[in-house]
Amino acid sequence: MNHFELKDGVLHAEDVSLPAIADQVGTPFYCYSLSTLQRHYRVFAEAVAQAGNAPPLVAYAVKANPNQAVIAALAAEGAGADVVSLGEMKRALAAGVPADRIVFSGVGKTRAEMDAALAAGIFQFNLESLSEADMLSAAAQAAGRPARAAFRVNPDVDAGTHAKISTGRAENKFGIPIDTARDAFAHARSLGHIDLAGVAVHIGSQLTDLAPLETAFGHVGALIADLRADGHDIRTADLGGGLGIPYAPGDPEPPLPKAYGEMVQRTAAGWDVRLVFEPGRLITGNAGVLVSRVVRLKQNGERRFVIVDAAMNDLMRPALYDAYHQISAVQPGGETFTADIVGPVCESGDTFAQQRGMDRVDAGDLLVFRTAGAYSATMASTYNTRLLAPEVMVSGADWSVIRARRSYEELIAADSIPEWIRTR
Ligand SMILES: *Cc1c(COP(=O)(O)O)cnc(C)c1O
Repeated sequence: MNHFELKDGVLHAEDVSLPAIADQVGTPFYCYSLSTLQRHYRVFAEAVAQAGNAPPLVAYAVKANPNQAVIAALAAEGAGADVVSLGEMKRALAAGVPADRIVFSGVGKTRAEMDAALAAGIFQFNLESLSEADMLSAAAQAAGRPARAAFRVNPDVDAGTHAKISTGRAENKFGIPIDTARDAFAHARSLGHIDLAGVAVHIGSQLTDLAPLETAFGHVGALIADLRADGHDIRTADLGGGLGIPYAPGDPEPPLPKAYGEMVQRTAAGWDVRLVFEPGRLITGNAGVLVSRVVRLKQNGERRFVIVDAAMNDLMRPALYDAYHQISAVQPGGETFTADIVGPVCESGDTFAQQRGMDRVDAGDLLVFRTAGAYSATMASTYNTRLLAPEVMVSGADWSVIRARRSYEELIAADSIPEWIRTR
């Protein structure tokens, strides 16, 4: 469910026509719907509200879409934040997420990141190795306060998703093998400065089946019982994110948050912990679109190319994950044709779709890439010295630029030429 719909033949974001935004900010640009963001958050929060022994912490996975306006909108709904870097923690705090609603994940946390997160007073560190526990204990000792932490366990469950977004198999870099968890907890306790409050798990992204999640959560439940038997005071279980969303029409419908919530409630019924969730894609994915203008059409033999002014540097998911994005005309005329939709970057990977049946478009027409609210603008680069696409948020009939397009001058001025370069 989202708020991007045709009104009088023109695609709107809520009550704002996309061509009207294009006229003012130029193309390409990202556009997010506040109502969709809020709706997705509320549906998820409601679905899990009854699970666990206390109101859960829904920590939005900032990496999905770290724009300050997006985080602030979710913080206003009561969301916490799941962060994976100092930069994301700073963003979450700046956008108004209370420190005690921030979870710090990631395999490569540095001492500087730990020090800053301890000073801020975050909710919990999710540890991913013994050596990381050593470092955190030292940081906590230096800070003079215990660090609250969970170990992220790797349950060796196949999430059944794309290899590049699967994280819960033994060969992945994430977490500690679940069968070593009791030893890891014992080791971390012996260090003396870590409050081992819980267990965390996250097996992958864009999951379209609840079964692997239920299997993984079952392992977590058994581990919690073992850890308690070992004398650990386990109070939280972080079940990660990963719920998938529909990208392509006709794809099997991913499980609804309600079904996920019921599964969690059933699986975690006897755990007696407060649950933490880290949804990312589910919240922002369908709350955003990328709008691009057709530069020209080109025919190579039998092959028709629609060349647009967005490229792989703006939206990397097709090149990185072979991802499918629905692409349609902002003002469809009713006719269709088959084409490859490509960007201007000098890479064959700069292809958004091949032999796609699509709305017939011509040079100058606007196209929309759906489901571009997660892992999209945030993965953009300036490759080919292209400016980052601006971001816009719409609410009802109002809209604002939430990240402006910078100038070429600013981009180029970020480099500096050493004095000696022309003299050697
Ligand atoms: C990426 C990530 C998430 C969010 O995943 P989604 O598929 O966007 O819900 C949650 N937790 C961790 C640890 C992650 O790395």
